[in-house]
Amino acid sequence: MTATQFICPNRDKILIKQCLSTCPHCLRCMAKPTLETLARSVADRGLGRKYSVTELIAGTREQYLKKTTEYAIDPQAHIFAMHGSAVHSICERSTAGGVLTELRLSNDLYSGQIDCYGDVLGNGKKVLMDYKVTSSYKAMIALGYYREDIPTGEVYKTGLKKGQPKTKKVWRTDGVRQLYEWAIQVNAYRLLLEEHNFPVDDMYIQVYVRDYSLRMASERNIDKPMYLLHINRISDSWLYLYFSMKKTLLDEALKNGAAPGFCNHRETWGGRKCMEYCDVYEECKKLYEASQPAPGAAA
Ligand code: SF4
Ligand code: SF4
Repeated sequence: MTATQFICPNRDKILIKQCLSTCPHCLRCMAKPTLETLARSVADRGLGRKYSVTELIAGTREQYLKKTTEYAIDPQAHIFAMHGSAVHSICERSTAGGVLTELRLSNDLYSGQIDCYGDVLGNGKKVLMDYKVTSSYKAMIALGYYREDIPTGEVYKTGLKKGQPKTKKVWRTDGVRQLYEWAIQVNAYRLLLEEHNFPVDDMYIQVYVRDYSLRMASERNIDKPMYLLHINRISDSWLYLYFSMKKTLLDEALKNGAAPGFCNHRETWGGRKCMEYCDVYEECKKLYEASQPAPGAAA
């Protein structure tokens, strides 16, 4: 199944078809072509097709619910995903010789769309480039930026901290880069390319930071609209194991009509995704509540 309803700004739900035909409010909350594009972008690709890399990387319960229930989405919450699509369509208009863009490939486990492949950095290497539009927070943690207290050489002369060394915060750029899902995704595309005889020398993500000009971004040491992130290679055998496991879990859940357990800590971004960003939160909650024994029922 798929997203069938939009959530209006007043939190009313309306069938997407009905919204696109006539908005019952005096003014649309956004332009109709934007809503039409959104409706197309959230339509499920249907059962019986190969799963995409992104579908398999997401939580299995989330994908199961997206494929088996009708759910509602808030158009406002999906606008930034559309920015990502817009960046892709701008960048696909390449005239560089030997550069491939928007190339769709598949193997036995999944399908994926490669944003850009070729000597795109001018160093003679075959580079797989993926584009991402993201927040300054996500960029900061993906780049491995963090702040550290270092001694200034002075001590407090008065107050509660008298005699203690003074410190100041400085930025470090050598922290652990938190880009686990991005690295798996780009490596999955790399595997697809190599399986189709396109050698890959290097992998990068071109990260567009949508809020780079805000003060909050500079407080995160982010001061540019775009960063190039080098992606390390993940072993092919690990990738095959991971995607086989995710595909089997989703196949079996769909075949048996049984929802898998809750998405794990990583898949829910430490729990932050569920209530605020998961499109099927309500369906997930209903399913959980239905599985609980009725009050007063014998244990
Ligand atoms: S245009 Fe916006 S406010 Fe109007 S029905 Fe559609 S989602 Fe609701
Ligand atoms: S609400 Fe959380 S646990 Fe449930 S499907 Fe969404 S991400 Fe997974």
